[in-house]
Amino acid sequence: MIVGVLALQGAFREHVAMLRQYNVNAKEIRLPSQLQDTDGLIIPGGESTTISKLIEEYCFTDRIKEYSLSGKPIFGTCAGSILLADKIEGRKQDFLNLIDIDIRRNAYGRQVASREIELDVEFLRPDSFRAIFIRAPIIESMGPDVIPFAWYNHSVVLARQDNILVSTFHPELTRDERIHGYFLNMVRYKV
Ligand code: GLN
Repeated sequence: MIVGVLALQGAFREHVAMLRQYNVNAKEIRLPSQLQDTDGLIIPGGESTTISKLIEEYCFTDRIKEYSLSGKPIFGTCAGSILLADKIEGRKQDFLNLIDIDIRRNAYGRQVASREIELDVEFLRPDSFRAIFIRAPIIESMGPDVIPFAWYNHSVVLARQDNILVSTFHPELTRDERIHGYFLNMVRYKV
């Protein structure tokens, strides 16, 4: 099993390090052709406008859509969740349109741009998960096919629709691999 991590900008090294720590074959993806032999893809946090420009410049858009259509799992964290959303508040143009969520960027405001909280995640109960939010977006609404797994301040912060998983926080910045573990099960067992 090979998991690709989109390595155009942002926190891709941290995802790769976490995957390798758990003996997963992780591959940095800089060109669409490199997706070919991967079984799952992570789109990291970073700066969503920059990543979106690079996605277009390197002709990733259609390739990532095809990737998802073929059933391969994709996990978007923070900026990655913005790129996967069907609707981004304040933007006429959206990016990948792969999950039925409506998302707003930098939604917690500057004062509280970053925070760490103990998050109750449905599939990790009874333990909590220490979640790190950095200039995080807020999922404003979601369609009926999206399954929510965790909430913070009445907003969903971890959710899934079919083969697409999104978190508005950064699970790769902790030492806790359990959310990656959930994604790896999606990749390995197609569950
Ligand atoms: N604020 C960033 C954006 O809108 C996302 C922040 C992050 O990925 N940590 O692109």
